[in-house]
Amino acid sequence: MASTQTFDADQAAPGIAAPAGLDLSHFWMPFTNNRHFKANPRLFASASGMHYTTTDGRRVLDATSGLWCVNAGHARAPITEAIRAAAGELDFAPTFQLGHPLPFQLASKLAGMMPEGLDRVFFTNSGSESVETALKMALAYHQARGDHGRFRLIGRQRGYHGTNFGGISVGGIGGNRRRYVSQLWGVDHLGHTHGQALRFQRGLQPGNGGLAEELEDLVALHGAETIAAVIVEPVAGSTGVLIPPQGYLEALRAITRKHGILLIFDEVITGFGRVGDAATAAGVFGVTPDILTLAKGLTNATVPMGAVVASRAVHDAIVDHAPPGIEFYHGYTYSGHPLAAAAGLATLALYEDEALFARTAALAGLWEEAIHGLSDCPHVVDIRNIGLVAAIELAPRDGAVGERAMEVFHRAFDSGLLIRVTGDTIALSPPLIIEEAQIGQITETLRDLLQTTA
Ligand code: PLP
Repeated sequence: MASTQTFDADQAAPGIAAPAGLDLSHFWMPFTNNRHFKANPRLFASASGMHYTTTDGRRVLDATSGLWCVNAGHARAPITEAIRAAAGELDFAPTFQLGHPLPFQLASKLAGMMPEGLDRVFFTNSGSESVETALKMALAYHQARGDHGRFRLIGRQRGYHGTNFGGISVGGIGGNRRRYVSQLWGVDHLGHTHGQALRFQRGLQPGNGGLAEELEDLVALHGAETIAAVIVEPVAGSTGVLIPPQGYLEALRAITRKHGILLIFDEVITGFGRVGDAATAAGVFGVTPDILTLAKGLTNATVPMGAVVASRAVHDAIVDHAPPGIEFYHGYTYSGHPLAAAAGLATLALYEDEALFARTAALAGLWEEAIHGLSDCPHVVDIRNIGLVAAIELAPRDGAVGERAMEVFHRAFDSGLLIRVTGDTIALSPPLIIEEAQIGQITETLRDLLQTTA
């Protein structure tokens, strides 16, 4: 019989022994059931290429690039060597009214990889900070142009834009918002794109279904003259890989442009070859936003770093037309940190040297075929994929949403496979260096687990 709220997946999967003498009590872990983890820990000791090694010496195939971030695979020598060299050369230098060459070099390199017209780069330390920065840029842009009424920010239901106040306000995940009542004012949301499309669809969903046109309804409701920006993930990742319908992003672009509203793509997950042969989903889909947020794969996750790339128009309105003095009252102590910038330069060079974005495109068909081969497995109600991303959605157990997928997650780990689950959806996003045999290992392990999961 299905259990209800009392389910504890960790009882079914006891974890591994923590190393002797390691005190787990002081580290308050993020987005974690701390009490369960500390009773049933799962700890990694090292990583290399496609694999983690646990503290008790077991190899685990990484089918999620850590947290969607290790796109070039783990512990890549050119990146770690660049970080070592940078640490010995310049440990830290401020970028407020001073500078050092590395972030300038990285910004130039990054600008060359962005869609045409996006070439002004602001550095942050995370995806969440990139989102806050992008939202502020959008507001500052309209203010700078004397368009003082544009204060509204539009997000999307089931959108994830990090955990800071701006991000949770435009984000559309109830659990991340509800407890924190003090949010941005005037925010509204488009409907999400999930559940309205065909199941087991390969790649982009057919037909826009009028979803993007909901923005016209919000314009009619609030008035375009009050709306500063719309922010969406081109492919929503954290809420279960929601692939946009064909024409959806193009329609959003057309409507925002028509009404003078800025379009922000949150590419923290979709950046750096995740969805195809380009550095961004914007590049893959051929839709250019006004502002684009990045993080994660920018440094292959070795050193925390994010970036916001703005169009020349957004930058120039805020910077070139400002009165003398600081133009944009925003920044972080570590914006453009030497270690992060060195890691970023080495990472972007590695992506190029190994043509990893082209590798995504080359493997995408095989990946799609392999993942959709699981459609006949027990419990599977939908499979979605694009580039090197896939979602396998399971039917929830009666009265226990998320329980079945969490059980698969723990059993997969114990079988040497790292997956990610959100609700009852298994999300896969392996490093772009994945080999064909490893794709086979992922699907075979999941097939076995699904066949033996109640
Ligand atoms: N935006 C998107 C689309 C994300 O997927 C994430 C994290 O997964 C973030 C923002 C937040 O990034 P961070 O955890 O680095 O703050």
